[in-house]
Amino acid sequence: MQAEPQAFDRVLSSMCTKPHPDARDAAERFLATNPGDPATYQRVAELEDEAVALLGEVAGLDDPAGYVASGGTEANIQAVRIARERTDSPRPNVVVPESCHFSFRKAADVLEVELRVVPTDDDHRADLTAVRASVDSDTALVAGVAGTTEYGRVDPIPELGEIADSVGATLHVDAAWGGFALPFTDYEWHFGHAPVDTMAIDPHKMGQAAVPAGGLLARSESLLDELAVDTPYLESTSQATLTGTRSGAGVASAVAAMRTLWPEGYREQYARSQRNAEWLADALEKRGYDVVDPTLPLVAATVPRPTFEALRAEGWRLSRTATGELRVVCMPHVTREMLASFVADLDRLEVRASVPVVGDD
Ligand SMILES: *Cc1c(COP(=O)(O)O)cnc(C)c1O
Repeated sequence: MQAEPQAFDRVLSSMCTKPHPDARDAAERFLATNPGDPATYQRVAELEDEAVALLGEVAGLDDPAGYVASGGTEANIQAVRIARERTDSPRPNVVVPESCHFSFRKAADVLEVELRVVPTDDDHRADLTAVRASVDSDTALVAGVAGTTEYGRVDPIPELGEIADSVGATLHVDAAWGGFALPFTDYEWHFGHAPVDTMAIDPHKMGQAAVPAGGLLARSESLLDELAVDTPYLESTSQATLTGTRSGAGVASAVAAMRTLWPEGYREQYARSQRNAEWLADALEKRGYDVVDPTLPLVAATVPRPTFEALRAEGWRLSRTATGELRVVCMPHVTREMLASFVADLDRLEVRASVPVVGDD
């Protein structure tokens, strides 16, 4: 029997989604290409240039440098690597808010830099006083998140830029998840808003490309050149990516998705997802749960563990924040009908959980 992937109809926890049909077609056509060897696979290499140019448009950057990475993890690791290469410090440190993605821990591990994790404020955003107190002349990188994994918060990027500048550090923005929603908001998050040096922005999340398609953007070629190593046996002479052979499917699907959806398709999708998140937040609040206001299409709410487990047992794919809140990511595949059915299950299961057990004293 042929194996089939699971359906998306109960997936509320994922930051990935069903690829757009154009992205799926392009991924299939380019499955057997390797942009890691661009002089041999020239067609996909040209598409990668187009992908980077389009990502630059999304992120407010003319003449962007960058490449299509395996995901936000690789882009974050590479940003830390660029910063480490740029500093003279023998003991470089990287300053991140505690809301940052766990990929920064991997980066710190493999690159042997000190990770300084600073607290967030009452609204789950990087606490600027704490960031200021943590940077010093050994700080190689200050990172902010534009669309945090747990609460969808956007750090104050221009202010983080000033702090980075005050110690000569590189400024990185992690917009892996938020990058395709933020252009339709008033947030200041991109290269045009602040002296951002590098950015992670994933087509395979809100961008509706097929996995794997992450994005690393850099303000200049010289930043990207910090990553280049010689490649003796390839037709091309150097390589900046972390991986060697990589999927042309990701590159081609990212271009196809962006050609089709940027900007109007993404705008409509963002508006729909945001309305869904607000609808769910309202529904949960009305039922007496504590809800973290969804500033991007992501809802976190305090739901008791037995209810959470019961919903999972019904087949709902759900995740929790580090402090235990239920977390629902309103990705493009998450429809109002799905959410209504989820809330109906919540009502049913919550009632059952609170029915007193007869005979139990
Ligand atoms: C998902 C995510 C990442 C990691 O990206 P992958 O594509 O899973 O490697 C990094 N940062 C943020 C903010 C994310 O949401």
